[in-house]
Amino acid sequence: MTRIGFIGLGTMGGPMANVLRDAGFDVIGMDVSADVRAGFGGAVAPSADAVAQADVIVTMLPEGKHVAEVHDALVRKAAKSDALLIDCSTIDVDTARDLAMRAEAQGLAMLDAPVSGGPAGAADGTLSFMVGGGDDAFERAQPVFSAMGSKITHFGDPGSGQAAKASHNMICGITAMAVMEGFALADAMGLDLGKFYTLCAGAAAQSWTLENRCPIPGVVAEAPASNNFDPGFAVRLMAKDLRLAQAAAASSGQRTPFGAEAAKAFTAFAETSGDRDFSAFYTTLRALPEQTQD
Ligand code: NAD
Repeated sequence: MTRIGFIGLGTMGGPMANVLRDAGFDVIGMDVSADVRAGFGGAVAPSADAVAQADVIVTMLPEGKHVAEVHDALVRKAAKSDALLIDCSTIDVDTARDLAMRAEAQGLAMLDAPVSGGPAGAADGTLSFMVGGGDDAFERAQPVFSAMGSKITHFGDPGSGQAAKASHNMICGITAMAVMEGFALADAMGLDLGKFYTLCAGAAAQSWTLENRCPIPGVVAEAPASNNFDPGFAVRLMAKDLRLAQAAAASSGQRTPFGAEAAKAFTAFAETSGDRDFSAFYTTLRALPEQTQD
């Protein structure tokens, strides 16, 4: 049976590891937090080395520096010579490329495979994976991806999964600002916002953000706005992803002015409201001082 070492059992990693175990993999988890380890339903490694001895090592960690730390301290020193490394964390493209190069230099195959779908997709095995790395490694990883996800896209070179994730999430961030601002303007002009929502949902302004993150309480019953702006997708995560997109823009030389604006706005909002859903940004827009006429 394939043994999977799963490092990082937090909001996403815990349910992903459980889904793998339910699919019949021999999963051994590891997390630096004792509370997280205690809350994980499955087997937890007695030591970091026990995880490194797995056939496949999945990491689901906060940032690139954590993945690099784990690879330096654990994976590359103790991993089996034919281990497959899959990093599902959302990290910067440059670190993903660097880690893949260093793994390859040691004869280890590595894939960057960030996800979209949130904790609900993690729990029911319907995540979308954006994958970068070699064809052989991608083939080997298929059973692991299929257990955890329903849409798996292989983009190609190392880092291209993170490149796709950064570009995708930048679209989401800019769209979020457009939806919030559209509703703020409609509200400022006294429109019935329920009618405005119905108009937009059936017209060219339709989007995933509109339908799932309408910022007006009571208009969409399941939306965070109707539920005290509980996340959902927290502002701090949106801000992090938009900063990663800006790092990718800087290193690829592409200007992304709207992405930069969105990164700035959500980063500032995260300082006071990091754990609320990103659609709570609407409340700050409506609270801005009135625009004066020139
Ligand atoms: P989280 O903070 O809930 O979990 C991360 C876990 O990693 C924590 O339990 C932490 O203790 C552990 N950890 C940190 N350093 C470690 C180390 N050196 N060794 C072992 N464990 C370590 O974060 P999350 O929400 O599960 O997100 C994980 C990744 O997935 C992030 O990169 C995030 O951007 C991305 N992501 C999150 C969501 C979401 O909705 N939460 C959606 C898509 C992608």
